[in-house]
Amino acid sequence: MMPRPDIQPPSSAAVARACDLLRAGDLVAFPTETVYGLGADATSDHAISALFAAKGRPEFNPLIVHVADAAAAAEVASFDARATLLASAFWAGPLTLVVPRLPGSPLSSLVSAGLETVGVRVPGHPVARALLKAVGRPIAAASANRSGGVSPTAPMHVGESLGERVAMILAGGRCPIGIESTVLDASRDRLVLLRPGSVSVGEIESVAGPVEVPDRDPERPQSPGQLSRHYAPSIPVRLNATSVGSDEALLAFGPDGLIRGGVARVNLSPQGDLYEAANNLFAMLRGLDKPGHASIAVMTIPAQGIGIAINDRLRRAATAP
Ligand code: AMP
Ligand code: MG
Repeated sequence: MMPRPDIQPPSSAAVARACDLLRAGDLVAFPTETVYGLGADATSDHAISALFAAKGRPEFNPLIVHVADAAAAAEVASFDARATLLASAFWAGPLTLVVPRLPGSPLSSLVSAGLETVGVRVPGHPVARALLKAVGRPIAAASANRSGGVSPTAPMHVGESLGERVAMILAGGRCPIGIESTVLDASRDRLVLLRPGSVSVGEIESVAGPVEVPDRDPERPQSPGQLSRHYAPSIPVRLNATSVGSDEALLAFGPDGLIRGGVARVNLSPQGDLYEAANNLFAMLRGLDKPGHASIAVMTIPAQGIGIAINDRLRRAATAP
């Protein structure tokens, strides 16, 4: 069995210890409003290499830099008037802005996979904010799970996935949103959506004008490292199920989640609430990911609002290896 990771409630002593570990180049998992992040000092090549290694993440997949506030963001990246407007409208919150790196930025070039842009975000979760404020330097973080797998929305998911690869887990309960941030490229003439999340295109457009939403061609990732297969359980996932096989597990949605059969079933939201469904998505996929289940059959989820992000994750989870 893997040694148990060090899971700590987020007391001020635990936050101080997390800061010491991060400054020493170690990896610390912490809660954000989206999913648990695996954090590393974004100014240290050594720490960032360790993060890629712990996740088994390909080094061409850039990381998101997390900072305490917009002033700290301006120390690592350059924000034009439009990006500044977006940051003030949506931060702290689940919107990642891809913007040009500041020339002479202290960030390790590994963070942005050698690109001239960097993804930056100010998370809204109180534990993440306390940690970022206390550590006083940018922290690169990816979801605290092995690359390609289901994202962690509770401390024990982090331990199950990473074991002793993480020095410490700051435990802050379940993540309130449960699905990763919206990623918006604000480094070009036109705004481009790179990953749907809980901040919708409509909300962004009401602040900053038209957003281009590229066609989702799985063979042509929009963003470096945006892989067609991701967020995937170890067993196959089948979408838009209207029936369930006797050896399958059912991931239902809504009041009509009454398809009969299957070896196990859970409902993302019996009331048909898409926010509740997003919040349950990863934990329920984990729960159904058992060797005794042939596959996970998922009912249709409406592609509106945060349902667009849910469908994005499910589509990748269902992509064959
Ligand atoms: P993850 O850490 O798995 O939540 O993924 C971060 C997402 O942000 C991935 O889809 C990355 O490709 C994207 N991303 C981060 N930085 C950049 C960047 N500089 N340019 C384009 N996409 C980025
Ligand atoms: Mg991830």
